[in-house]
Parts: sequence; structure tokens; C-alpha cells
Amino acid sequence: MNGIVFDIRRYAVHDGPGIRTTVFLKGCPLRCFWCHNPESQTPSIGFINKRRTLDGSEEWLATPVGREMTTDEVMKEIVRDRLYYEESKGGVTFSGGEPLMQHRFLLELLQLCHEEGIHTAVDTSGYANPEVFTRIAEATDLLLFDIKTIDEQCHYETTGQSNQIILNNLSSLDVPNMELIIRIPLIPGINDGINSLTDTIQFLKTIRQPVRRVDFLPFHRLGQHKYEALGLSPSPKLPDPHSIANTPEALALFSAAGFRVKEGG
Ligand code: SF4
Repeated sequence: MNGIVFDIRRYAVHDGPGIRTTVFLKGCPLRCFWCHNPESQTPSIGFINKRRTLDGSEEWLATPVGREMTTDEVMKEIVRDRLYYEESKGGVTFSGGEPLMQHRFLLELLQLCHEEGIHTAVDTSGYANPEVFTRIAEATDLLLFDIKTIDEQCHYETTGQSNQIILNNLSSLDVPNMELIIRIPLIPGINDGINSLTDTIQFLKTIRQPVRRVDFLPFHRLGQHKYEALGLSPSPKLPDPHSIANTPEALALFSAAGFRVKEGG
């Protein structure tokens, strides 16, 4: 089976336990205004302008983003680092974009990894058809589930989509032997206020699947230059470059509510 892979990064240490290979699949249904990888959002192979200097003069070069790969080709990349996975209790993480947009390709890769005895994680926004979401959750060892905000209006304004399907998917999750880590990108002025954090805690207390940990991902403006290179404008809603998310309060609130917490992925 073929899919569109946006990038493959080896020796990743922030996308799950141990040393991992992260496979980024192309395409995402959301448009978070803080997205660091806007070139990952469209599902097909695209182009980004990259500057290069040749013989002392600068020129812009349209460089492809994404490439079509078979599951066998992806697996060849993954198994190269098997020794590192075994020694560090690591494995493979499938990220995006939104990896569930290529769910058939993803499912085959998850099955092939398990045939090889390799631990798998899927990093998802949860925005997917419920049947697809359940099938993928049942096929992975670890789910890294991103929550942007519980507030539906705020979610719509900041990502372009309602969060109902996301929250319903998380609520209905009930998969034995699969670990769940919640990841919250803390965006200053958007979801780092006490009300927003408290609402998220209340929601997480209602779900059936045990939460192994809540990770808070720091906000940064890296990747904003890519918008220009794609011919897009960075969002005017982006927080001031000097604003800092309220991470200490988030860690304290979730910890007091009984969750294991971590700063960073
Ligand atoms: S879900 Fe992730 S990849 Fe998709 S737009 Fe948001 S930040 Fe970007």
C-alpha cells in the first residue's frame, strides 16, 4: 500500500518513550493558527520555496514537501534502528499532520511494526471518523492525544473546526492494554487560563480510558517563516513573541487533580 510521507526523523526523544523514529504522514483537517508545520496540512505532495545561494547569488527553489512511499519502504527505514528501540525501550511514532487521515496506510504500518515486535505510538488530534479512531486506537500501544481546548467556540476560532468529534472520540475510548497520554499545547491567552485548564481537568475526569500522563507542550513561534515560503500569511492572532504560557500553574492544577504531569513532550 502507498501513502504520502511528509518526513521521517530518527533518534526522536520527545514523541513517546525511549529513542524513536517519528514518521510524519501528510494531511490534516485542522488549521491551528500556531501550527509549526503548515506544509504538512495539505494531503497531497506540495511545494515550499527554499532560499539557496549559488555562485554568490540567491535564488528561491520550489522544493517538494512529501513523497509517496510504500509501507515496505517505510518499514525499511523503521527497522534500521531496531537496536536503539530495544536498548531504550523506544519504538516508532506516527505523527503528522494528522496521521488518521491516511488510516489504511497507518493501520498496515502499525500491523507490520507489531509483526516486527516494535512498540508503536500514534500522535493524533482525535479529529477522525469514530470507527477509524477506534480501529487505530486498538492497533497501537500508545496514543498521544492532543487537546487544544474544551471550549467549542474557541476551538472553532483557533483551529477552523468544532471539537465535538474530538471530545466524543476521547470519551468513547475504552481499549485495554493501550496507554493514553494527553498532550496540551499551551498557547498564551488561548488555553492557559485557569478556567480553560479547569474545564479540561473536569472533562478528563469523565473519560473511561485511564490517563497515564498529561504533557504540556511549550508554545514557540518556530516554523512561522514557513508560512511566507508557502505563500501564506502567518495568523494575526499569534501571541506576542515575548508571551509565555502559564505552564507552572497548569502543572500545579493538573497535579493537584491527581494527574501525572510533564513539561514538554
Ligand atoms: S493538528 Fe497539528 S498538524 Fe494539524 S494544523 Fe494543528 S498543529 Fe498543525
